Amino acid sequence: MTTPPRIVKIELTEFKYSLTDVRPEGTISIPIYCKGETLNGRSRIVRIFSDAGVTGEYVGGSGTEHSAIGMIAGLALGQSAFAREKIYNNAKQALRQHARMGMSQVDMALWDLAGKIFEVPVYQLLGEQRTALPAYASTYVGDREPDGLNSPEAYADFAEQCLELGYRAFKIHPWQDAPVTEHVRLVEAVGERVGDRMDLMLDPFCAILTFGDAVKVGHACDAHGFYWWEDPFRDGGVSAFAHRKLRQLVKTPILQLEHVRGLEAHVDFIVADGTDFVRIDQNYDGGITGVMKIAHAAEGFGLDVEPHGSGPGPRQCMAAMRNSNYYELGLVHPKVSNLAGGPIYLDGYSDELDAIDPDGNVHVPDAPGLGVGLDWDYIEKHRTARVVFD
Ligand SMILES: [Mg+2]
Repeated sequence: MTTPPRIVKIELTEFKYSLTDVRPEGTISIPIYCKGETLNGRSRIVRIFSDAGVTGEYVGGSGTEHSAIGMIAGLALGQSAFAREKIYNNAKQALRQHARMGMSQVDMALWDLAGKIFEVPVYQLLGEQRTALPAYASTYVGDREPDGLNSPEAYADFAEQCLELGYRAFKIHPWQDAPVTEHVRLVEAVGERVGDRMDLMLDPFCAILTFGDAVKVGHACDAHGFYWWEDPFRDGGVSAFAHRKLRQLVKTPILQLEHVRGLEAHVDFIVADGTDFVRIDQNYDGGITGVMKIAHAAEGFGLDVEPHGSGPGPRQCMAAMRNSNYYELGLVHPKVSNLAGGPIYLDGYSDELDAIDPDGNVHVPDAPGLGVGLDWDYIEKHRTARVVFD
């Protein structure tokens, strides 16, 4: 191939879906189990058309992300569809005052397009490390339903169920409205029940209000040998200084950087001693191009990176990394399906609770690009908006 394909059109599609027995949690609108309720959600797809007749597509990103894509569509149209570095670097500058929203989703679709042109999955373009990915069961936040994750014992029961299914690791997203004593009891209950048989993680995602309460929870994690402790308190997960102080007071390894975007800010946080594990997210950190830069930077520091969230994208990236431990499978719950952005993946792809093999692994999709087809019949039937740049 001498002449690379050119980007001729970028299309954004929004569609709706619903999930039963779930509602938005009161304070920050995250999904929570609630029998009889229905959560109406919206998902978004970027499609990039090339003059080679091959199209790249990616499901993901918030409405805020997609609203910024128009600001960079102009710099991508007409470019080589393989010019991911150039588009990443130009988008960084163009979106410098807009939190670099939207560039990640464009990058993901470009990787899908490249894989489809060369007829290989993205992880083989990146460089294959492995195809089986150890998964952790990542729970919904706690609820107060009679048959839900309503008590420390209910979480411990669910952890045991996950262990029996084959999971080797379990991550707790606790209640948003619980006192710190209940958080501590939760860590103790799950730790006592399965701590000697599973790697355990705790992710309050910044629900704990004070540094002092975070230290109490951290000491409970220490007592039960937790594998990592993530976004411990309400600084919002962004203070390198605060997490350096927490690392001096608590032994459990800290996992930060879900809420800090991009390569340079990740490296600054590492250099400031603010974290042990490095969080990466294809939707926040500049797509696969940005995530792989962070993975390799962390590798140079001898640190591991842990992909945030489920989907074909994180699987493709993790399959091309040595320095990563677990795939986040979720959100999972004893009574509810995974939210997962709607029932749009084909080819038997799943991130439901039973998606692991008997050894607790998920597998990287092997078809070209991101590796999973999309159900365009469903998407068009439920479409709520479409914007085209050409
Ligand atoms: Mg998290």
